[in-house]
Amino acid sequence: MAEGNGNSAPQKKVAVVTGGSRGIGRGCVVALAEAGFDIAFSYASNKSAADEVEKTVKVFGQDVLPVQADASNPLEAQMLIDKAFEKYGRIDVLVNNAGITRDTLLVRMKDDDWESVIDTNLGGMFYGTRGVAKIMMKQRSGSIVNISSISGIYGNAGQANYAASKAGMIGFTKAVAKELAARGVRVNAIAPGFITTDMTDDLPMEKLLEHIPLKRLGTPEDIAKTVLFLVTCGDYITGQVIQVDGGLVV
Ligand code: NAP
Repeated sequence: MAEGNGNSAPQKKVAVVTGGSRGIGRGCVVALAEAGFDIAFSYASNKSAADEVEKTVKVFGQDVLPVQADASNPLEAQMLIDKAFEKYGRIDVLVNNAGITRDTLLVRMKDDDWESVIDTNLGGMFYGTRGVAKIMMKQRSGSIVNISSISGIYGNAGQANYAASKAGMIGFTKAVAKELAARGVRVNAIAPGFITTDMTDDLPMEKLLEHIPLKRLGTPEDIAKTVLFLVTCGDYITGQVIQVDGGLVV
């Protein structure tokens, strides 16, 4: 993945992924590295998982920068962007993926269940996007992909906090897509259905199959391929939400 810039040598493209140590984020890191991007990714605390991802990226011959940075903390979220820009001198792609669940019924939901989910999923996306916006606007190019959820479109009992955060991500995606389009920066969202990761480990995944027309659960690679499509082939796509759910909600 190279970009001609006149007389100087072609520059490699750079992707930043939040929550890249496991699950969907890891899938995105690997797919982007395989496609030729240098990578910076964040993780919350799982250093051994981050080390494994770092090794995998190196196998593809790309440079990689793992950063322990809490997406819900504005200073740490900005630090990830600053470190990536300092190291690579450009940022072409941001995948806002870091996310958590604290599922419980509304009447039992504690303030902390609400705040931690909103601050991580919605706040993290805001801090990351604000961090790269100036860089991408100056470059006059960039692609931002926000990992939302079908829960943010259709709602889900027991997930008022999570659904609110994921719906917020969609509104944000549309607003910022309009704001940054004139500067060549595209912003899209993906709404995954049920994807096999640690997050969904204790769901009755086999039972869910009954409701999925494609008769299989999603994989991190299914989401990563969609990210790759949006960032490498989606030149005329912005402000969109793509459902990747095996036909679960049609
Ligand atoms: P996961 O397997 O639990 O992995 C979460 C990743 O995010 C890990 O790398 C984790 O780092 C990181 N992370 C968590 N909190 C963070 C924080 N505060 N700051 C920085 N990184 C943080 O989750 P997943 O299933 O891959 O989900 C990824 C995204 O997809 C989430 O936004 C989720 O809402 C969305 N999604 C998932 C599904 C699904 O079925 N799995 C469906 C729809 C949407 P550590 O390794 O250090 O803990």
